[in-house]
Amino acid sequence: MTFATITGHEQQKNILRRALSKNRIAHAYLFEGPDGIGKRLMALAFARALLCLKSTGCGDCPACRKVDHNNHPDVHLLDAEETTIKIDQVRSLQQELSLRPLEGKDKICLIDGAEQLTPGAANALLKTLEEPQPNTLIILLTSHPEKLLPTICSRCQRLPFSRLPKQQLATILCQRLDLNSTEANVLAALSDGSLKKALGQNKQLYLEKRHNLIQSLSALSSGSTIPTFSLADELATEKDLLPDILDIFQAFYRDVLLMKHGRPKEELVNLDLLESLEKQSKILSTDSLMIKLKALDSARFHLQRNVNRQLALEVMLIRMTAA
Ligand SMILES: [Zn+2]
Repeated sequence: MTFATITGHEQQKNILRRALSKNRIAHAYLFEGPDGIGKRLMALAFARALLCLKSTGCGDCPACRKVDHNNHPDVHLLDAEETTIKIDQVRSLQQELSLRPLEGKDKICLIDGAEQLTPGAANALLKTLEEPQPNTLIILLTSHPEKLLPTICSRCQRLPFSRLPKQQLATILCQRLDLNSTEANVLAALSDGSLKKALGQNKQLYLEKRHNLIQSLSALSSGSTIPTFSLADELATEKDLLPDILDIFQAFYRDVLLMKHGRPKEELVNLDLLESLEKQSKILSTDSLMIKLKALDSARFHLQRNVNRQLALEVMLIRMTAA
């Protein structure tokens, strides 16, 4: 992994490259921005450039290869165990950082999902950030900087990352996945700037399952309780993908609304479903579309708060079909 192989984020790359070339590296960084856009890859590329025996991140020397294979003894990665990063994990990291580097001149530690630090772990980490050891670098990664202690944030050099622009993402998807431009645009729009989402399990959901999901939903009519409940059953089994499925429904009805109001095609997500968007835009009134979108929003709100999934979905579908 080098800076050059990471897609986008040119400004962030330049900041890190400059720090490396001037040898002015902060003792701690906070990479903040949405999940799945390349923060972790960037941290690893930075680590590799720092530890490379040729100081270039060449990719060929033993140090570069160990970073790439996650077995460099001076690179430590801290991830959540279950759902939190615990104080014991921070303590053993601190012990590790107090020793001299084994192979390179620096010790590097990545804390991924830093918002998952428990309060105790965060306070323990604060001590390390307040009294940095020479030749140690800590990189915190988070998609929720607002959940970190302000004192932790202020001890780090902050580097914000943004989502990849839709057009850039579509171009990459065209090249990497051998998609036509309509498919690539649909996938890019639904992936919300996350290359990881677009390349992972969401690809199948967005390109293959989406049509069926939208069809099942738009086929429901008010009063048809059996199909409504059976769709709710089906959706309830998709625990991990459910937020993304709700996004699909939302994007669809948003498209219908845009089409109804004559917005240009470039603003639509479902470019491969124009016929069906057209049809729905003639059948559905603006009011009924707004009710559907509100029902989706409210289901999302309740699901994030761990209410009974089945029930939330049934209520959502009943409200959507009645509209
Ligand atoms: Zn190297």
